[in-house]
Amino acid sequence: MNAVWIEPEQMAQSEKALEPATFKIERETHKLEKRMCRQVGQAIVDFNMIEEGDKVMVCVSGGKDSYGMLDILLKMQARAPVRFELIAVNLDQKQPGFPAHVLPGYLTQLGVPFHIENQDTYSIVKRVIPEGKTTCGLCSRLRRGILYRVADELGATKIALGHHRDDILQTFFLNMFFGGKLKGMPPKLVSDDGKHIVIRPMANVAEKDLNRWATHRSFPIIPCTLCGSQENLQRKQVGAMLREWEKKHPGRIESMFSALQNVVPSHLMDGTRYDFKGLKTTGEAFDDGDKAFDADEFSPPVFDGMPGVAILKAAGQQTFSDSN
Ligand code: SF4
Repeated sequence: MNAVWIEPEQMAQSEKALEPATFKIERETHKLEKRMCRQVGQAIVDFNMIEEGDKVMVCVSGGKDSYGMLDILLKMQARAPVRFELIAVNLDQKQPGFPAHVLPGYLTQLGVPFHIENQDTYSIVKRVIPEGKTTCGLCSRLRRGILYRVADELGATKIALGHHRDDILQTFFLNMFFGGKLKGMPPKLVSDDGKHIVIRPMANVAEKDLNRWATHRSFPIIPCTLCGSQENLQRKQVGAMLREWEKKHPGRIESMFSALQNVVPSHLMDGTRYDFKGLKTTGEAFDDGDKAFDADEFSPPVFDGMPGVAILKAAGQQTFSDSN
């Protein structure tokens, strides 16, 4: 490549031009951090995820989501009005090529207490599952059991997983398309052995924000394809479908995510959630009453950065905004 001589004057000018760009990146990163902290804080409060004295076992896989979760939880820990402990846990499943030094090095540098659990589930899965069959079912069952045991041994009161908003929506559609169920991924649940509370503090956070945060923080990402298993094709397809919708109709993801928090059982068809059989007239009109004969009408979605938001906000109308 030919060297290009830049006159000192030119250099000074280009540095000046760079200044606002650097400043803009810093400002955007600051906004991103604030937004993620706010969304995590909101999830913690809304679902009472972390309480005084909790010991939270943060499951860290080496992927961007769990690194991001640990990062934001550490920030929350420093500011939260309640005192709680964090302990990062990684399960080294002995997959070929797993860089075992990466996480201990990173976590030591971060100064967070951590535990690496070494369990060769890879060999078990390879031995038990015939070649060509999907290994994920057994692998995740084994992993789950091990993590529950580790949580007991560490005295953890909560187990934190890094699933985010887009994982939750994908799961919702997967359940609807392939499972015939209206069911997502809960932000807080009791584990299947009935002994642990599992939390998903990143439930409100968008995947694209986690991607940006991972780039900003230069996380030492460990690829998740080391086991050689195929990625879940259906999940990939649903993810692509959601991204396509969002591209064509900005704000749709946010609207669908809000819908998961605004369920109206009387307008679905599950007789176990709403007593349709025993429905009786009250003789009194009520505001949210169904007009029955008219189809619902929808005003255009309102989001930050879209025309009219400022006006609606000024008028005190509720928006689904994500302002900083
Ligand atoms: S992708 Fe590999 S490591 Fe992940 S659950 Fe499936 S078999 Fe296990």
